[in-house]
Amino acid sequence: MTNWADRAAALTPETRLFIDGEFRPALDGATFDTIAPRDGSLIAAVSAGGTADVDLAVRAASRAFEAGIWSRADRRERARVMLRLSELMLEDLDELALLESLDSGHPIGDARRVDVPNAARTMRWYAEAIDKMYDEIAPAPQNALALVTREPLGVIGAVVPWNYPLIITAWKIAPALAAGNSVVLKPAELTSLSALRLAELAARAGLPAGVFNVVPGLGSVAGEALGRHPLVDKITFTGSPAVGRKFLSYAGESNGKQVALELGGKSPQVVLADVEDLAACASAVAWGIFYNAGQTCHGGSRLIVDERVHDELVSEVIAAGDSMVLGDPLDDATQIGSIASAIQLDRVLGYTAVARDEGISVHGGDRVRPEGLAEGFYVEPTVFTGVDNSGRIGQEEIFGPALAVSKVRGPADAVRVANDSAYGLAASVWTREVTTAHRVAQQLRAGTVWVNTYDVADVITPFGGFKSSGSGRDRSLHAFDSYTALKTTWINLGNSPLTND
Ligand code: NAP
Ligand code: MG
Repeated sequence: MTNWADRAAALTPETRLFIDGEFRPALDGATFDTIAPRDGSLIAAVSAGGTADVDLAVRAASRAFEAGIWSRADRRERARVMLRLSELMLEDLDELALLESLDSGHPIGDARRVDVPNAARTMRWYAEAIDKMYDEIAPAPQNALALVTREPLGVIGAVVPWNYPLIITAWKIAPALAAGNSVVLKPAELTSLSALRLAELAARAGLPAGVFNVVPGLGSVAGEALGRHPLVDKITFTGSPAVGRKFLSYAGESNGKQVALELGGKSPQVVLADVEDLAACASAVAWGIFYNAGQTCHGGSRLIVDERVHDELVSEVIAAGDSMVLGDPLDDATQIGSIASAIQLDRVLGYTAVARDEGISVHGGDRVRPEGLAEGFYVEPTVFTGVDNSGRIGQEEIFGPALAVSKVRGPADAVRVANDSAYGLAASVWTREVTTAHRVAQQLRAGTVWVNTYDVADVITPFGGFKSSGSGRDRSLHAFDSYTALKTTWINLGNSPLTND
């Protein structure tokens, strides 16, 4: 067994900005502290990119794009570099996973089994896809040829959250880079370290200078500067609705750049009375909310259950949650790690207080302190029962290990309550009837619906939301739509001018 805590103590992570192929401090020398949520200790001071640093990064990205070193490189060359990057990520598995676990609070086992392999697979998948994409020839008259081709957009600004730093970064930069764009990434303040490691690996893989830049910094400084920069062609963002909407304003007030948003959810897990296997369902419901301590955009944070199976299901979900191993993220046995920050901890505990005030019955809901870790940020699996879906606990994204349970009767009632949300990222339905499954899946307003399962996620399918959960889609070949523009080229094949009749 590896002693991850010892290895973490010996780490000397890269903390400087990565701009135009080089690591360097912020122009004004500013830094911010990054904390290990497992015990509240300081990991390192990270360079805080300011407006001038963002400007340097965007200009480097724009120069690289204009020079064509990547944007016009043979697709097989781009594929080769990205495949190499994917390999390097896997060779670097332990170091990347350790940085991710230490910085974000993900259990080390999840970081090694899920986060790093998933990010590496995403990189490989888009690398393999890029030389298999064909363009179009429109059905033009005999005397003309009309080509419809895809071109990279230019400079992509990627602004990502702290809940899955590597995975969400890969979902954005892999298709963006494969399509030939340059990228400036602003990681979340809480979790910049794995992104900086990724930059190091990308340079080693042969990605030309300026094509991929990483500028850690405060959202309200570096994030806003990227959002307002006139040379940024698109922002791809994952995070809170409030900040996502700010990016729409920044775009409107600057150059009208495109903005794609993934803004979280309040995803319902719907369980109907004819659920086939209650035990399997309870386990999926519990993992659907408690995985990564509930800090998942598509976490199944509402359980909408038919009153005929309510009591039995709820007690099984509670038992499943309580049996999960909560503890130090750097312990191989841990299944639920820490909350990402002290602020987020307070936010989650604040909802326990709201629930108690609203007279909702609360199982769990308190801070816990795993042995030997005095200052870490941990919350026990929490189940709120008797929730009125229209109240705060039913409507607001808690982003912690907290499940809100509402009782319904029959599929129509279940769909009505499930859809009573500003969000629409994901949903599930459990039933043994195939027609009910299809009908309910059709009626649920969500970007992803799972039937008799939860949280099956793969790069092969698109991911994104309806309603306030955002616009645009990460993953799958559709992500290329987000990072390319269509160009039409008319060619006159005849001896006379082309006409429109
Ligand atoms: P957030 O503020 O939306 O952060 C997301 C990203 O936007 C981070 O890189 C952040 O930088 C940046 N940012 C923050 N303020 C900005 C601004 N004014 N202009 C430009 N960029 C800005 O999310 P959060 O504060 O970390 O979390 C708050 C809540 O958002 C959570 O409790 C949860 O409900 C939701 N959330 C959703 C997702 C999701 O996957 N959809 C992920 C995380 C959080 P900094 O890190 O420096 O602030
Ligand atoms: Mg923030």
